Amino acid sequence: MPDLHGWITQQITHLEALCRSADKEHGRDWVTTWEARTDDFELLDSSGTLVARSLLPGAAGLLAMHDPASVLRRCEADRRILARHQIDPDVHYTPACKGCGTYGDMELPETDNLNDCPELLDLAYAHGLTPEILASLDQPVPPPAPPRPEPSAVNLSAYMRLWTARPTSSVPPALRGPNWKARP
Ligand SMILES: [Zn+2]
Repeated sequence: MPDLHGWITQQITHLEALCRSADKEHGRDWVTTWEARTDDFELLDSSGTLVARSLLPGAAGLLAMHDPASVLRRCEADRRILARHQIDPDVHYTPACKGCGTYGDMELPETDNLNDCPELLDLAYAHGLTPEILASLDQPVPPPAPPRPEPSAVNLSAYMRLWTARPTSSVPPALRGPNWKARP
């Protein structure tokens, strides 16, 4: 199974494919109409071709609201949310959500696990996520940490300076604490 982000992406991809196959035949924008002669609610495409007939009035309006153009716009909006709420590439100890931001001076992630991101959970709800599906999803994996830089000659010389720090006898008397001892 994918993780939550991957699962939503799959649902959107499926919806987009459905829209494209529908608008290949009937264009992107659909309208409803009432046929007085037969007292019938119909769904027409933009060229006036019949998409569906004998619909209940509410169903005709609902279908027209979900014509390919509208659904594709919704998919695009969902993809923008997915692009914001994804794994933070700079956090390596946990699969944090970048879009949820950070808190405190340490800039700790607001959402430690992308599967717990409230924005993604709401988005997934709209795509039919159930507690059972959520429980079956994979856990996201934190991005691998970049290799540690080799200690350079500059770092080593800084260490050496620390080890060979000035003797304590050079500390001015005003700065010497009660337990101060002279060290050569
Ligand atoms: Zn988030």
